[in-house]
Amino acid sequence: MGKTILVTGGTGFLGSNLCIRLVREGNRVLCVDNNYTGRLANVKEVADNPLFSFIEHDIIRPLDVSEPVDQIYNLACPASPVHYQGKAAIYTTKTCVFGAINMLELALKHHATILQASTSEVYGEPLVHPQPESYRGNVNPDGIRACYDEGKRCAESLFFDYYREKGADIKVIRIFNTYGPKMNPDDGRVVSNMICQALQGQDMTVYGDGSQTRSFCYVDDLIEAMVRMMNSPKGFTGPVNTGNPGEFTIRELAHIIIKKLGGKGNIVYKPLPKDDPTQRRPDITLAKEKLGWEPKIALDEGLDKTIAYFQQVLGGEL
Ligand code: UDP
Repeated sequence: MGKTILVTGGTGFLGSNLCIRLVREGNRVLCVDNNYTGRLANVKEVADNPLFSFIEHDIIRPLDVSEPVDQIYNLACPASPVHYQGKAAIYTTKTCVFGAINMLELALKHHATILQASTSEVYGEPLVHPQPESYRGNVNPDGIRACYDEGKRCAESLFFDYYREKGADIKVIRIFNTYGPKMNPDDGRVVSNMICQALQGQDMTVYGDGSQTRSFCYVDDLIEAMVRMMNSPKGFTGPVNTGNPGEFTIRELAHIIIKKLGGKGNIVYKPLPKDDPTQRRPDITLAKEKLGWEPKIALDEGLDKTIAYFQQVLGGEL
């Protein structure tokens, strides 16, 4: 029998992919979002399914639901630098911190297992490479990324305090850069930006000299890790790194996309945003050991699927 599963951030990029998978597996899914960066269109595949319900709610306020909940995935938070910097910085910290408290209280009330979507940003500008979970990070607490980095760090500490003080059944994963269908074309992330720019005949923006690295995980692999972590033995809390260890410079990524589009695409260089990490790659030894998980979809294949998705979106088919 299926479970009742609440997903915050359910209309966002990861949340919508997760909701669709969970509904297709026969679970009752309560999708919670205020659509600040999420979009109802992302869940249209399951919108009419009786197993699926959408609850419009901002998790900075407490939430109660009348039906018993077995599991909570806490994903809600603006996640793209263009969203969390500037006008949404304070709101981003509130979402991380108040959102964590509100969802942990909900989990306690329902005796539900709760998974926190933490982030590689907790490592900041990493001085250890690749990053294992034991690395404590190098975050600038006063910088323009701090609202997200420190917000997510505080959320992690809240999760572990609720675990120690109140016995909450918690799981924490640290998500590294992820891409794929249902990314918002205006999200400002590097993969969506470059593909959409090239497809529309615009210049592809590389920030800095493009020598900074990221490791890109295809969304289906990431969702698999999330579900495995949620269903891992009770008492295994993590944190666990989830991401693809394949590491590329941003310039390399641009050239791969240009090649895939048959040479279409022209690179322009723009200033590197402040505190933009110079390197990032997950050490996924723990995920392999404890979850039997590692990514299966290489960047080459994942980019093909993502390009096909954006071709449909920009062509008005989705
Ligand atoms: N980036 C870029 N061009 C873009 C968007 C991003 O060169 O159009 C760079 C950005 O400066 C960063 C990397 O790509 O070094 C990944 O950026 P993204 O916002 O996707 O993720 P995050 O910085 O959160 O890892």
